Order: sequence, then C-alpha cells, then structure tokens
Amino acid sequence: MERVAIFPGSFDPFTIGHESIVKRALPMFDQIVVMVGYNSNKRSFFPVEKRVKWIRQVFKNEPKVSVESHEGLTVDFCKKMNAQYILRGLRTSADFEYERAIAQINKKMHPQIESVFLLTMPEHTPVTSTIVRDIILHGGDASLFLPSALNMDEFTTEGLSEE
Ligand code: ADP
Repeated sequence: MERVAIFPGSFDPFTIGHESIVKRALPMFDQIVVMVGYNSNKRSFFPVEKRVKWIRQVFKNEPKVSVESHEGLTVDFCKKMNAQYILRGLRTSADFEYERAIAQINKKMHPQIESVFLLTMPEHTPVTSTIVRDIILHGGDASLFLPSALNMDEFTTEGLSEE
C-alpha cells in the first residue's frame, strides 16, 4: 500500500521552514499532499488560491508532492485522500504542547491515522508565517524566509485577502 501523508497548515504564507519539512519527509512517504486549510468565516492574509499556487510552484519538479485546499477537519481530508499519516513540524516546546493535543484528538477520532513529527532545522526555529507576514506588511525583505522558487514581487500587500 502507498504511504500517503497529509501536511496540513494555514501556510499564510508557506515559508522555508515548511519547505524544509516537506523535503526532509519525502524519503519517508510515497506521496505527500500539502493541505492548505481555510475557514471561510475567518480572514486570512493571502487568499487560499494564492497560497495553493505558490506551494505548487515550489514543488513543481517534485512528482511526489501535490497541493490541495480544504475547509474542515484534517482527518476528513485524510479519509478523502486515503492517507495514513499526518505530517507536522515542531519548533518549540509550545509547538509540542499544541501538536500533542491535536494529534491525540485526531487519533481518537480516526485511530488508523498516525501523526508524524519532524523537528525543525535549528536555523528555521524562529521562522513563522506570522513574522513573515509582518515583514511583508511593512515593506521589509522577506525573501530570506520564503522558498527560493518563489517570485518575491508577488508577495505584496495587494495580495491581502478579502476572506
Ligand atoms: P497551522 O495554522 O496549522 O499551525 P502553519 O502553517 O503555521 O499551520 O504550520 C503548519 C505546520 O508547519 C505546523 O506543524 C507547524 O508547526 C510547522 N511549521 C511552521 N513553521 C515551521 C518551521 N519554521 N520549521 C518547522 N516546522 C514549521
């Protein structure tokens, strides 16, 4: 059976930290589906279509990676995609506590699915989408923290979502 992992997140935007987690997980799985989660009642910074487009751009030469958007529970998306694994990244002990609760609840809801965690590379520990958004919002150079395959000109505040 194919080993399929879902990498869920808001990815608002997708950073070098996220990119690194997917790349390092590639040898472990046959397929990784990056799931861009959204909530139509909650405002995001970048529209979900742009977030999906950018992540597809990052992995355009990697046939094992696909990108989809999803509104709702990650475990429901796992069932839809026939995925057995949820991939997440850990930066800090705060991440651990948050991820532990989600993973244990997911396990209760859908016992066949295992959550798999990769520790961040030390240099990516401080990289968060929130900080990257702030840099973009205030006209700073966010290119240090965004995947090199992306065109920085697209990361303008004009991208601000109306969602
Ligand atoms: P969410 O809104 O679900 O927290 P994020 O887009 O913030 O989604 O993050 C998705 C996943 O990537 C989470 O598991 C998060 O811990 C992980 N992650 C975020 N930033 C980094 C980073 N710099 N290094 C490693 N993992 C990260």
